Amino acid sequence: MFRRTHKHQAPPQPPVPPAGPPAVAPPEQGEECAWELPEDLRVPPPESVGGTAHAYAGPLVIDGQTRVCSRCGATEDWLLLMSHATEQITVRCRCRHEWHEPGVTAAWFRAVSGPVTAYYPDTDSLLQAQGFDGTTPTTP
Ligand SMILES: [Zn+2]
Repeated sequence: MFRRTHKHQAPPQPPVPPAGPPAVAPPEQGEECAWELPEDLRVPPPESVGGTAHAYAGPLVIDGQTRVCSRCGATEDWLLLMSHATEQITVRCRCRHEWHEPGVTAAWFRAVSGPVTAYYPDTDSLLQAQGFDGTTPTTP
């Protein structure tokens, strides 16, 4: 059996917040927020985003081999697309040719991708906005 000995100490005091503007209380549940986020700053819920795209300008070298589009001969200027459901990576050239690329992992994709800069309502809108809809073909 142990016997505890303790000295009577005053309880620790919470830190004092620095002086600044008064905090705004979050809205109570069920209470509507008094302000609205501008539309261009809104982010869709994660479950509604089907995938992520990343433009990759340089040659895509996997296991020491440079990937080449088998249909148009492109060796650089890719759009990499990752499905959030399967984490499979699709490589697309500017001529609209694409293929599943098992040599590119989701971890690598995430490592080379920057922050999300735009959301598109569908894949066609994304491809058009990024210039991968076939209207800007690869020049040899
Ligand atoms: Zn191609």
